[in-house]
Amino acid sequence: MLFLKLQTLTNTIATACLLMLAGPAMAQTDTPAEKAKDTTAQEVLLAELAEDESVEVVERSEPRRQANTLPAPETGPAPEKEAEKPKPTPKPKKVAPNIDLKEVAPVPVPEPPKDTAGEEQEVSEADPEPDTEEPQPANNLVLLGSEVLPGTSTRLAWSPGIQIAGLAQPTPVLVVNGVNAGPNLCLTGTIHGDELNGIEIIRQTMYDLDPEKLSGSVVGIPIVNLPGFQQGSRYLPDRRDLNRHFPGSETGSLADRIAYSLFENVIRHCDMLVDIHTGSLKRTNLPQLRADMNNPTVAEFTRGFDRMAVVHSSGSSGMLRTAAVNAGIRTVTMEAGESHRIQEHQIDAGVNSLTSLMEKQGMISRMFVWGDPQPVYYNSAWVRANQGGILFSEVKLGAKVSEGQVLGYIADPITNAQHPIHSSSDGRIIGMAVDQVVMAGFAAYHIGTEAKVPGE
Ligand SMILES: [Zn+2]
Repeated sequence: MLFLKLQTLTNTIATACLLMLAGPAMAQTDTPAEKAKDTTAQEVLLAELAEDESVEVVERSEPRRQANTLPAPETGPAPEKEAEKPKPTPKPKKVAPNIDLKEVAPVPVPEPPKDTAGEEQEVSEADPEPDTEEPQPANNLVLLGSEVLPGTSTRLAWSPGIQIAGLAQPTPVLVVNGVNAGPNLCLTGTIHGDELNGIEIIRQTMYDLDPEKLSGSVVGIPIVNLPGFQQGSRYLPDRRDLNRHFPGSETGSLADRIAYSLFENVIRHCDMLVDIHTGSLKRTNLPQLRADMNNPTVAEFTRGFDRMAVVHSSGSSGMLRTAAVNAGIRTVTMEAGESHRIQEHQIDAGVNSLTSLMEKQGMISRMFVWGDPQPVYYNSAWVRANQGGILFSEVKLGAKVSEGQVLGYIADPITNAQHPIHSSSDGRIIGMAVDQVVMAGFAAYHIGTEAKVPGE
């Protein structure tokens, strides 16, 4: 089993490496100097320097409006009109083949091209009343033009329809529809094409599920940004950040259209969503959730994740998490490790936490051993480098630190000056840059300080 796992891991890495080597565009996207020449350099550089998500202090951030309707997250300040879920279209659908996801699969057959985003899809309303004692039999799960029967697993394909039709490369979508009714949990990975840990987190989480013992359904898209993944790039081919374009638009930019297609065809059918990311640009993150702790529904949702630090972040416009929460879907971002790498410890933490979530939601019953009785909530702030030079860290990811403690040094290789970087507060290192050459202003250490959740 371990061997199999390792072998698959190795294959994944090998494939990823091959794809990266093969990507001719790598040369164009590699160096900052190259980027500066590009007309879009300003936007891209800004995006790269930004943290993966902005995080803020719970108390100082804006509480969600309309406190009287707090349990309904869709009452938030949705920038877009959120329509009701589309009405079911009781058309006969193609029954998806039942596949043991652990079996080695042939290359997926592409879906026939699908032009109408609105009419195709509707998950049969499988949501049961929560906490019903008697398990209710599940309905067929209707997704991407196929019907997935209860008690079966399958592989479907999503195509955003942006490519030359004959060359279109569908994105694999894994589905496990449990024999009993329950919530629909969706998992998305690699929205940033260079963030690889999520691919393996989704594989290990889903391939271990027995549809005969599952209540509800799990839908996983391990590689949302397939073009970015193939080029080893965070971005889309138009150099936009897909995670700033949700819920998207049918008539907008390339990123808008991909976001729209994913959102309409898959995301709207989810009751819960975990969007898996890693640190960006040579930064690594302690396994953690990013969640809007001012939203009580989301705050409650975070309690289902074992051994995860929870960092408050309201989320910015265009992020999948924000758009999904505005559409009434309980959503968090999971951050684990750094980009361009497959990291077994980070993957294990992610799989463990998703398994605990499914147990907490009544989807699986396992003798799950919870690590911490309660998640730990953090406010956070970045400590930045004040000089250019080479960063050498003295602390490790996850370390507890105190205010004023030296976290690392910036060494100037020419003058031989050593500039210490001090911690801004007592707390824990929840994210940090790996040792590298930095310039002044570079966000080097992400310090989490324990916080109380509003309303507790
Ligand atoms: Zn990301």
